[in-house]
Amino acid sequence: MSLHTRMLIGFVAGTVLGLAANLFAADAGWLDLVVTYVADPVGQLFLRLLFMLVIPLVFSALVLGVVEIGDPRSLGRIGGKTLVWILAVTTIAVVIGLLMVNLIRPGQGIPPELGAEIMAGAGDRASQIAAGREAVSGLDVLLNIVPRNPVQAAANGDLIAVMFFALMFGIAATVIRSEGTRSFVSAVQGIYDICLKLIDWVIRLAPWAVAALLFAITAKLGFDVLVQLARFVGTVLAALAIHFFVVFPILLRVFGGMSPVAFFRGAQPALLTAFSTSSSSATLPTTLACSVQGLGVPPRVARFVCTLGATANMNGTALFEGVTVLFLAQFFGVELNLIQQAMILVLCMLGSIGAAGVPGGSLPVIAMILAMFGIPPEGIGLILGVDRLLDMCRTVVNVGGDMVGSVVIGRSEEGVREAAPEAAAAG
Ligand code: ASP
Repeated sequence: MSLHTRMLIGFVAGTVLGLAANLFAADAGWLDLVVTYVADPVGQLFLRLLFMLVIPLVFSALVLGVVEIGDPRSLGRIGGKTLVWILAVTTIAVVIGLLMVNLIRPGQGIPPELGAEIMAGAGDRASQIAAGREAVSGLDVLLNIVPRNPVQAAANGDLIAVMFFALMFGIAATVIRSEGTRSFVSAVQGIYDICLKLIDWVIRLAPWAVAALLFAITAKLGFDVLVQLARFVGTVLAALAIHFFVVFPILLRVFGGMSPVAFFRGAQPALLTAFSTSSSSATLPTTLACSVQGLGVPPRVARFVCTLGATANMNGTALFEGVTVLFLAQFFGVELNLIQQAMILVLCMLGSIGAAGVPGGSLPVIAMILAMFGIPPEGIGLILGVDRLLDMCRTVVNVGGDMVGSVVIGRSEEGVREAAPEAAAAG
């Protein structure tokens, strides 16, 4: 049975049992015991395993990303354009997500007492992490991006400071081309590969964690929580659709000189592969083939933009992270001011670069961002059950974004337009 089927079963089983407990045994003493000694520990174990991976994963992914962009052999100029592209389009994606979630407010509606109760119970760990941070002014928020001590930043779960350190490290590693830096980079590659393997193992626990986390939350909240969840799914899908069907076509027309119809026709095999695998990395070979043969992008551009894009350019993931963090903040009644939302924007942008292109690759990053803002990371359990569908859809947007980028950058390098129509027709 595939992992996702098992996750779905975990979701249904946890929800049904939790709802039944909520209906028939809400005040029973045993329910508390089950939640405290079974459901909570199982959920916690899974979350801890995710947290465990964040720092090495984000550090290695960012260092490698920068090294690849800055490598003179991998075309410095295209690297610069790709970087600008990734930052600009990912920002658009996160902004769309944040606007939608502020507009629809899918997380609102849980009675404040219940939210506070969950916060008090489940959120202890999150609040502990959050309590370590004094209230800071706008200027301090900026200053705090630079860590005084990177090890301490990592220990405190200060993701943005760790990201800053990783970026600086990567930049320096590209400037010095010594034997030592080369072996360092290959060691970092090793760390990254190991993290991917570990994520693969941890995700296997997801069905149990989903069942446990959902049981705990539905036993407490009953049916309301499902309504909330449906609104969350709707918000994510609507925001992804805007990015995919409105932003991409505009970018293609304006900067790529390509009609969206030709694009979607040429890109279709990769988009379908992304949808069925939920993994940008697994889709990479198809993405490359579509870019070159279906869209007429020069191979050297496609190779660079799509390869880097498979781990670093994740529009759908960035958007999803933003919507999820704000949804759970609304759900648990955590108020976030504009500065905090701006920080979330930056975190989601960098977090999408740091997320791995594998199914559920963004989950460790989301768990960490939640903890940073004092939102109970247990909320992840809520969305895990519906994550399969959302993962499939956001991976399509991720891979689509790589190909749109390759068309635009390819055109700016040597012109894609001439090759595209026949290639697309032939394909
Ligand atoms: N599954 C996504 C991808 O591979 C990553 C994520 O958002 O979980 O692109």
